[in-house]
Amino acid sequence: MSPKKSRKPYVIGNWKMHGSKAGVDALLQALISNLNPIQEVQVVVCPPAVYLEQAGRIIAGSSPVASISMGAQNLYPEPEGAFTGEISGPMLFDIGCRYVIIGHSERRALFGETDGFIARKVDAALKAGLRPILCLGETRAEREKAKTFEVVFNQLEAAIKEVSVESFKQGIIAYEPIWAIGTGLTASPHEAQAVHQFIRAKLSERDPGLANIPILYGGSVKASNAKALFSEPDIDGGLIGGASLNHEEFINICLSALN
Ligand code: PEP
Repeated sequence: MSPKKSRKPYVIGNWKMHGSKAGVDALLQALISNLNPIQEVQVVVCPPAVYLEQAGRIIAGSSPVASISMGAQNLYPEPEGAFTGEISGPMLFDIGCRYVIIGHSERRALFGETDGFIARKVDAALKAGLRPILCLGETRAEREKAKTFEVVFNQLEAAIKEVSVESFKQGIIAYEPIWAIGTGLTASPHEAQAVHQFIRAKLSERDPGLANIPILYGGSVKASNAKALFSEPDIDGGLIGGASLNHEEFINICLSALN
């Protein structure tokens, strides 16, 4: 049994490109009524951008006001301008987002996002008052070549070297081995803990003030495996994809994060 952690756990739902107005309403109402009494876990939902305003209204209109927070799945690194189709950090903050996912492996792989571009997004998020949820993780081939630590370290360094230590204290890291995302394969608690411990050590080497940043695990987390993962000393909760769309699954994952 690992010692109780002093850091508050986070469970963040990445809804990806799923949902409808009716679906957002139903999912959020279920989460609000079941999760509101739980103050010890910070729950964050990240709906698709077009549903953020609706989600914000549902959360703000709940009585008592829900403790669930809202995040975006992406942002553009400039505050405004001629960037057709893009959404800025100040706009996300304006409609009630307080978090934003950055560097998700789907954006790196499908949309060609580079470490440099991701670093600009981290900086832009912090400047807009949003907490960046910075995703790091290796491919299966990289793990098989024993390159996990090197890959994760390079991604971390590239993303945070331009931002001040003081501002990155607001950051959140999500370790998401790419081979575990949406595949049903999960890193074992032991494998995940080793990488989390490494990330925390590197953050702490940069500045002791970064040692307590939340480090979440993501990759096929389900109600059935969440408790074992979240019990590891350096795993502070999870970034949840597929299972965040099913309210019973997601609620049980949130309950698994209680210390
Ligand atoms: C994700 O996309 O961030 C994720 C962790 O997905 P899944 O839980 O479906 O593996």
